[in-house]
Amino acid sequence: MSLPPNTAPPNTAHGRGYLAIPGPSVMPDAVLQAMHRASPNIYAGALIDMMPDLTRDLCRVARTQHDVAIYIGNGHAAWEAALSNTIAPGDRVLVPSSGHFAHGWADMAEGLGAQVDLLEFGKQSPFDVNRIADALQADTAHEIKAVLAVHVDTSSSIRNDIAAIRKAMDDVNHPALLMADCIASLGCDTFEMDAWGVDVMVTACQKGLMVPAGTSFVFFNDRAGAARAKMPRVSRYWDWVPRANPDGFWQYFNGTAPTHHLYGLRVALDMIHAEGMDQVWARHRRLARAIWAACDVWASKGGLRMNVADPAHRSTAVTSLRLDAPDGTRLRDWVEDNLGLTLGIGLGMGEGRESDAFFRFGHMGHVNGQMIMGLLGGVETGLCALDIEHGTGALDAAAKVIAGG
Ligand SMILES: *Cc1c(COP(=O)(O)O)cnc(C)c1O
Repeated sequence: MSLPPNTAPPNTAHGRGYLAIPGPSVMPDAVLQAMHRASPNIYAGALIDMMPDLTRDLCRVARTQHDVAIYIGNGHAAWEAALSNTIAPGDRVLVPSSGHFAHGWADMAEGLGAQVDLLEFGKQSPFDVNRIADALQADTAHEIKAVLAVHVDTSSSIRNDIAAIRKAMDDVNHPALLMADCIASLGCDTFEMDAWGVDVMVTACQKGLMVPAGTSFVFFNDRAGAARAKMPRVSRYWDWVPRANPDGFWQYFNGTAPTHHLYGLRVALDMIHAEGMDQVWARHRRLARAIWAACDVWASKGGLRMNVADPAHRSTAVTSLRLDAPDGTRLRDWVEDNLGLTLGIGLGMGEGRESDAFFRFGHMGHVNGQMIMGLLGGVETGLCALDIEHGTGALDAAAKVIAGG
């Protein structure tokens, strides 16, 4: 007896899914394969031997000659680590904000007893460095110990000019440390820690570095090291001194190493340096410009808008968009259910019904032209399926950019 035919509509989400959110990002198969192994010896052998080259190659991505401390933790851990080494209870920090993540870092500082001066620039504009300079100039007693600057705010997709902040700080002769959050930008957007005068930089492995979430990094220079030396007390676990210059292997991590992450990270760094930093940045720029070209066409009719109007202030790793509520959520749900394509939610961009207006594309790390065309084609499919008004010809516009136009 034969079974009746299955007449359900075909499942067009079947196949390999595509997580196009701004972190965790797409992991290269080579990274996953490097992690697929038995636990290594943590007392001698390959794992121990790989550390000097690993930290050197991490510093090459950060463009620094200085030190790095590695933590088993996410980006929030790196935030806390950076502050724990430099900011004592009662110290003041200046936090310019162009989105959700600046508030997160500010909150972390408050939790450690710092006094936070928040400079709000909204969710659609980058920092105005003149206002940062004014705030520093007004601080004649030099109570502000650090400026906490998010390079790319992943919620708004605004990219801030970190070098301009250093210049503003130098112009008013303020001795505060410049700290940058490059969690969403390292390995995607151009970043030059030493050349831009950044004293402390925090990042994590699950975005531009293409490794599953679980390790994070604090890079620091000699000025930051001097600030650390003046701290009345630093908790043993967060202390970056033994992690950056360990006498024994266990001190890199203050305990058991993140064994498999280190193997994955090794391969990810090899991929990045084989491509070359300039090429990695150029690839992100090209692919981002293709996305923006498509968005401009869609936006020519109907309610779709990119959050950041000026391309000069956009991240090349994440794009925040809006549609009329609730179409942002409808679109995300539809492409996930019907295409296996997962877009980012609008993080901290709106409350209540408004939150259904926003969505984001992650285009960081292990992404190429066919993936971006797939992402854009998927979004266009969703716009058509849901009858959301949009301009036509977006894929043509993106294709021209990817092909070199
Ligand atoms: C992702 C992100 C964070 C938080 O990182 P977690 O790993 O989620 O703790 C902080 N800042 C920025 C800019 C980010 O993109």
